[in-house]
Amino acid sequence: MKELFDTLKKKALPAIWAQGVKLAREDSVSLEKESDGRLDLRVRVPARSAYLTVSLFTRDLEWTCDCPGPADPCVHVIAALLAAYAVIELVEGIGLWLAKRWGEYFAMVVTSLGLPYEIYDMTSKITVTRVIFFVINLALVLYLVITRRLFGVRGGKDAYEARLKDESILQATIAAAAAAAEPASLGRGERAGPGASR
Ligand SMILES: [Zn+2]
Repeated sequence: MKELFDTLKKKALPAIWAQGVKLAREDSVSLEKESDGRLDLRVRVPARSAYLTVSLFTRDLEWTCDCPGPADPCVHVIAALLAAYAVIELVEGIGLWLAKRWGEYFAMVVTSLGLPYEIYDMTSKITVTRVIFFVINLALVLYLVITRRLFGVRGGKDAYEARLKDESILQATIAAAAAAAEPASLGRGERAGPGASR
């Protein structure tokens, strides 16, 4: 993605680039399909209330757009590139962020945010569903505290960092990035590789 970004940045006329930035900011790009080394995006053209299809080939460093314009790369390709790039950078950023120590606390705090509400819910009326949700949420928080060794649990920070050094740091980052790309999995699962001091 970075290579395609640099290639297009170099090739695009400054005016086209600027227009592409504007178009991307107008939220006119949506991702259609993503496959290995290829992104298909839809770009809304404000003036024509029509859609154009842009394909970006991140590995072959190529691009296509079905507009008839003479510019190559055209405004639509730039807009699609910027939108895709922003998303990928964001996902990578979140992954790196969650891989950091305080990111672990953040995940735990976010997970525990529902607890007060669930407790409040049970004070008004106790139902099986409410209890189950509360127990699941509490278990998730405890799971994060124990597996991430938060608040000094199981050796705390030192043990945690020793384990991180044992594991490939890269693997941890990839796992975090994958978890970030999959917001549905609240528990974020286990990191790749067995915990060294389990
Ligand atoms: Zn175009």
